[in-house]
Amino acid sequence: MFNLVLFGPPGSGKGTQSARIVERYQLKHISTGDIFRKEMDAKTALGLKAKSYVEKGNLVPDELVVDLVMNFLDQHGDERGFIFDGFPRTIRQAEILRTELFERGQTIKLMIDLKVPEAELLERMRKRGKKSGRADDQDEDILQNRLKIYRDSTEPVISFYTKHHKHYEIDGVGTVDEVFNRISSVIEQFI
Ligand code: ADP
Repeated sequence: MFNLVLFGPPGSGKGTQSARIVERYQLKHISTGDIFRKEMDAKTALGLKAKSYVEKGNLVPDELVVDLVMNFLDQHGDERGFIFDGFPRTIRQAEILRTELFERGQTIKLMIDLKVPEAELLERMRKRGKKSGRADDQDEDILQNRLKIYRDSTEPVISFYTKHHKHYEIDGVGTVDEVFNRISSVIEQFI
């Protein structure tokens, strides 16, 4: 199996690039953010629990996220591999993912880290907020909070994958095709 973490701050293009990667390499996409939004829309128990965190731009507690991801893995055991989008977002999540994959005889092959300057991230999220109506993209305080949480809690995850020699930094500025070509050239060294 080929398991890949697509990493980057909010607005860095993880969702867009995941769709391209899925198309070319037939991996199974898991976006924890997409799952939370769906569960919130459907007002499930998980959605109701996640709502207060997602709405403020805070991280959902690790236990909730980890349970959701492991259930997903167990329901999709026969895939060619997974793209983890928006997960892991804390060192603890990264450690648990490593252990859980290990127990299933798997590993993360690489972590692709999309680098985009903050000014551009803000611009992209504001634009997305207008188009998609995503509430957490429409409020300036929430946008700033998400970037702060990224810097404080999520960015340290890079060092976890650097330590394991799996971290690949990609310039996330450019057209969707340009960024995808950069990502593909890294994936093709491994797949
Ligand atoms: P973005 O990357 O643009 O912030 P996501 O769709 O990945 O958007 O995430 C939206 C929200 O869902 C986050 O702000 C957070 O509240 C919650 N969330 C998603 N993934 C995780 C995670 N791995 N751990 C904790 N919270 C998460």
